[in-house]
Amino acid sequence: MSGEYQRPAAGPGGLRLHLNENTAGCSPRVLEAIRAVSALDVAFYPEYEEVISESAAYLGVPESWLLLTNGLDEGILAATVAAAQAGVTGGVLADVPESIVPQPAFDMYAVCTGAVGGRVVEVPPRADLRFPLEAVLRAIRRSTRLVFITSPGNPTGVRIDLDDIARVSDALPPGARVFVDEAYHDFCGDTAMPLLADRPNVIVGRTFAKGHGLAALRAGAVIAQPDTLGPLRRVVPPYSLNVCAIAGLRAALSDVEYLEWYRSQVRESREMIYALARRRGLPYWESGANFVLVRVGARAAELVTGLAGRGIFVRDRTGDPGCDGCVRITAGVVEHTARCVAAMEEMLCAAP
Ligand SMILES: *Cc1c(COP(=O)(O)O)cnc(C)c1O
Repeated sequence: MSGEYQRPAAGPGGLRLHLNENTAGCSPRVLEAIRAVSALDVAFYPEYEEVISESAAYLGVPESWLLLTNGLDEGILAATVAAAQAGVTGGVLADVPESIVPQPAFDMYAVCTGAVGGRVVEVPPRADLRFPLEAVLRAIRRSTRLVFITSPGNPTGVRIDLDDIARVSDALPPGARVFVDEAYHDFCGDTAMPLLADRPNVIVGRTFAKGHGLAALRAGAVIAQPDTLGPLRRVVPPYSLNVCAIAGLRAALSDVEYLEWYRSQVRESREMIYALARRRGLPYWESGANFVLVRVGARAAELVTGLAGRGIFVRDRTGDPGCDGCVRITAGVVEHTARCVAAMEEMLCAAP
């Protein structure tokens, strides 16, 4: 599972419903802000002050609890490096640092753990793909440095009880952390932020890629108690957000109406995909995210290829643990979802 992240391919053009991106594009205010960047702005190291204070206000945390990163991916990397460092005593690494990764999971946890010489402890999925709390608790040991929890899950969209996350936090050995990846927070509002005040071993990760549509600008955030965040700050380079990302993020945060509109599109799109699954008698998972996992069965690969032939890209997740026969479909702009649902319906009807 570790190794290099494989960037999923898509043909030019077409409808990209395979990477959970915001297919409406970012708010127009973001483009205005980028166009306003001057020659000197590009030539000088960027100012961080305002973007930090505005992001902290947006997230409702003190500035000392916030670290802005070059996408959440960089936050995951920084947390992994910091966690590995925490296992070093007297210049010697006591154990191979272990990351517990409940399956199925976002690839970067294993990629980053591998990059620091760590070991991934995979927790197998439950049949219903709900958070496997008991199995995660059983997997925790002295060499555990990190537990990755994706809330809501990717590729499942499954939401996780805050109590379950608290139980994991309670069970960790000293120095270990639970990293709560809230990449899809914008689409359900779930957050482990209320745990942060009492729990120095909880780290929350957010991204502005999905809801705000800044995936290519690269802007993410890590939130934790200041002492917990310290080791991550020592990992992240001082200017990992470039001037366009800073200008774009500030503009995106100011456009609350845009985010609200996109969220409502996502809610409607999820319902359209659920309705398709029900009509065709296909199992699906209620999602807190901007995608839906549907079990289409043995024809998954055929369906994904057939849709690609019509210029619609969805993700075959058959290879993921517990996801046999499943495809993941981005639920974004309603008009895009309608095209995908119509094409799927036609193909599923035609299939024997
Ligand atoms: C998309 C995604 C990320 C990466 O976010 P970036 O800000 O684009 O790096 C992290 N975690 C999960 C679960 C994701 O789906």
